[in-house]
Amino acid sequence: MSFPALVEPAPELTIEEVRRYSRHLIIPDVGMTGQKRLKNAKVLVIGAGGLGSPALLYLAAAGVGTLGIVEFDEVDESNLQRQIIHGHSDIGRGKAESARDSIKEINPLVEVVVHQERLDTTNVMGIFERYDLIVDGTDNFATRYLVNDAAVLLGKPYVWGSIYRFDGQASVFWAEHGPCYRCLYPEPPPPGMVPSCAEGGVLGVLCASIGSIQVNEAIKLLAGIGEPLVGRLMVYDALEMSYRSVKVRKDPECAVCGKNPTVTELIDYEEFCGAISAEAAEAAVGSTISVHQLEAMIDRGEDFLLVDVREPNEFEINRIPGAVLIPKGDFLNGSALERMPMDRQVVVHCKSGQRSAEVLAVLKGAGFSDAVHVGGGVAAWVNQVDPSQPAY
Ligand SMILES: [Zn+2]
Repeated sequence: MSFPALVEPAPELTIEEVRRYSRHLIIPDVGMTGQKRLKNAKVLVIGAGGLGSPALLYLAAAGVGTLGIVEFDEVDESNLQRQIIHGHSDIGRGKAESARDSIKEINPLVEVVVHQERLDTTNVMGIFERYDLIVDGTDNFATRYLVNDAAVLLGKPYVWGSIYRFDGQASVFWAEHGPCYRCLYPEPPPPGMVPSCAEGGVLGVLCASIGSIQVNEAIKLLAGIGEPLVGRLMVYDALEMSYRSVKVRKDPECAVCGKNPTVTELIDYEEFCGAISAEAAEAAVGSTISVHQLEAMIDRGEDFLLVDVREPNEFEINRIPGAVLIPKGDFLNGSALERMPMDRQVVVHCKSGQRSAEVLAVLKGAGFSDAVHVGGGVAAWVNQVDPSQPAY
């Protein structure tokens, strides 16, 4: 099913624009009218990260007239493996600013609007209102639900994508014509169950595969051509090299776009998604030590078992001396508990303190009442105690 074009055509293209976009103009489905629609289009890209990088570059090259970027973060060395809109000399700069400079180099005819802020309930409606279409490149569930609900409430279509290791997904959510993100995923996963790219990794080029699908869909919607990915979920497996498209139906009971919606205004998304589970938060109260306290325990030669609950690949990158690796999953399935000593204190840590708090809840539940976890994890250790080790 095709839809009418989202954007009216601009009055005309300049001679320079005709030269620049000639390979589009000679495609009959795009043509002069389609290119004029792109010129008139205002597209917002959320995040100039893994998905936002290729998306912004191709939207700019394609001649989308106005590109908005929502991004508050700075460029880190570990971003460069996939966030190709940023270069080595951009390390430490704001990502939004760095992305704007790259876009200007690719296509100076594009007007770039930088929203250097974190998207939240106070600013999302005001920002979204200014655009025809949203491309979502966020990497966390709280922001995804925020984006979805704001888009539904404003009646805006958005192109969603997600990436993890070798697996990618993409869809177009547009409540007026099909399902929304909540129709597909009514509830966020329990905190700590779905690893982020920072925890699990992502193949750099996967971002280009999914980001380019998002741009493809954006162009189709703006120009009113082809069959948009409305009501379909594209599932890509880079190891198998397979693309599958799965039908997604609108859920009449959907909390935000259903017949009797319960979400009629924006909610508290951090609480809805829970940064860590209630059990983990409770276990961590009074049982969290700092990396400096851990360092002092090691220096005093105290007898305790230090357990690193990250994954083996992460353990290879950096570690706290003396730590034994037992991944979080072994605690969740119970198999690690028999290896825990009854006569020594157990100290657990992960990368940042989220996974170790989940493990701490399991340990406390199994009777290890004096167990503690390390706030900030190995990231804080490298940052504050041993900067000779690499961060990731
Ligand atoms: Zn819905």
